[in-house]
This record gives sequence, C-alpha cells and structure tokens, in this order.
Amino acid sequence: MKNILFADYEGKGEAGALSRICEALLEQQKGSWRELAEAYEGLSGTEQRTLDCGRFAVVLQFNPRRAASSGAKVDPESIRNRRCFLCTGNLPPLQRGVLYRREFLILCNPAPIFRRHFTVSSLRHRPQSIAGSFGTMQALAEDLGPQYLVFYNGPRCGASAPDHLHFQAVPAGCLPVEEELGKAGKGQPGFETAFRGGLSVYRPEGLGRETIILEGSDTARITSALDAMLSAMREITPPGVGEPMLNIICTRQKTIRVIIFPRNKHRPDVFYREGEGRKLISPAALDMGGLMIFPIKRDYDSMTCDDILQVYGEVSTGKESMSRIFELLTGFQY
Ligand SMILES: [Zn+2]
Repeated sequence: MKNILFADYEGKGEAGALSRICEALLEQQKGSWRELAEAYEGLSGTEQRTLDCGRFAVVLQFNPRRAASSGAKVDPESIRNRRCFLCTGNLPPLQRGVLYRREFLILCNPAPIFRRHFTVSSLRHRPQSIAGSFGTMQALAEDLGPQYLVFYNGPRCGASAPDHLHFQAVPAGCLPVEEELGKAGKGQPGFETAFRGGLSVYRPEGLGRETIILEGSDTARITSALDAMLSAMREITPPGVGEPMLNIICTRQKTIRVIIFPRNKHRPDVFYREGEGRKLISPAALDMGGLMIFPIKRDYDSMTCDDILQVYGEVSTGKESMSRIFELLTGFQY
C-alpha cells in the first residue's frame, strides 16, 4: 500500500487543496506511466458535436478508447471470473493514488473522457452501493468543488466495477444538464418544488429524461433526503433485484446540488441488436447528464434527436414511476 501512495488527504487544508493534489497526481502519472500518457494523448482523437433537442442539448463524444467500458460484461458470472481492477493489489505497477480520508483512493482513470478524470475507489473490496455512502459522495464534492463534479453509477446502471465501491470526478461545467438546470426557473410548467428547511427538492420537466434535484447547504439534511429518496425508490422496485437503478451527479458551487436520474434499464434495445442495427450505447451518469459517449464512429455520426429521445425514454424511469417517487419522497420526514 505504501508505495501506491502519492499523497494523503485527511480532509483538512485550504479550499482547492484536494483538486491541486489530484492535478499533481495526474501530472506525475502522465510522466511515469506510459499507458496513461497515451490514453490522454488519445483524447485528441476524440470528436464532439452538439445536438440541439429543443429544451435540452446533448453533446456527443466519439471516443474509441471507451469501447471496453461501454461494452463491458457486468453480469455476475463475468464479474466473478475476472480480477477486480480496483483492488489495490491488482492495480498496474506504476499506478499511484491519493489516500482520501483514510477510506478511499483517488486514482487517475486509465480511459479518460476529459483532460482530468479521476476514479475514487474504496480501499475495501465491497459492492457498488450508494446506501451509507451519500456522506462520502458529498464530502468529495465539497473537497473537490467547485472545480470538479462527482458522480456515481449504480451497479446496474453503467458501473464497470459493480463489485467494488467507487465514484468518479471530472471537471465541473462539462455537462449540458448543469447549465440547463441553472436556467430551469422555479415556477416553470411542470416544475414541482418542495422546501424543507433550506433544502429544495424539485423535478424539472422537458429534459427528455426524468430527474430529481436536491439542493441546499446542509449536508446532513441532504444525506437524510437522499436516504428518503432511496427508500421511495425501493418501494417501487421489485424485491430481490438489489439497489434501485440510478445515476447520481453531485456538484458544489455556492450550494450542494445532487442530480438523481432514476433508471428503468441499463442499456437500450439498440445495444442488443445484431448486425447493422446495433449501436454501442451504454448510458451512465455522464450520458444521462447530456454527454453521450460513442466508441463507434458510425453510431456517433448517425445519432439524431429522435434517437436520443428514444434512448433516454427507454433507460430513464417512466413518468408515472417518477410521480410516485416524488410523492413518496415529499411525504417522508428528513
Ligand atoms: Zn475490488
């Protein structure tokens, strides 16, 4: 463990300290670990274009290096038969990390989507599960904000290591949904709001997918609201399937904002088609946030707004389920 550590961050220090440490880690790793340097050089081979879908926009990114991640086999059998790539004993020999609050290790993501992209992995091999870890996610967003946002992919919603608890961090401001929510003024049609002692809970509409936003400054209250949300989602999830399907994005600007995307499906039907009709689309938190990743150029070139609406419509929870979650959530005490 000792030779893995680049730095030790215990939660103290001035504002921005952790993001500077992480950026120093990235520079060190690019200098010493050739595969990582190549992965970052490969970013210049990515292409982006924006699809304006009316009330929202989606940025499409063609990123051939993400094929392994988008196509990853995450069924229990495949997971059992591979070595966990997040366990410290299995990390590449040149990989280093920042010890975070004694329980997590911040690592450079070896298949970056952005010029700075980190994975925050539990030191212990334990299942990807958000229950009990909302506090860690918010602490990360506070420690890395406002420069970075932190996101979580549920074990059935895009996490390529569903057996090992982890978060990811990328530069804030990179997702269309961040700005769209900023503009989505309270009082707009379909904009439901509940206030609880400084905490806003709202459900914007018109984004092509369902989402719930929690916003406030009191982290304990937000954690408690997130627990309530998970309970509400459990009530409409069939028993025995594990964690309700979701992606979460957490940002810290003036306040903490948690964006939750309840899900219905991991991958859209086009992912499973044979031949030409197949598209390698495997939506996770960033895709739900409006940045859709395409490892295949043909898929990237051919996407239209109708395709986006189809994908979001399939993988997002339905309107009725969302109304039920919102109703239950606003009825809970938190
Ligand atoms: Zn592991």
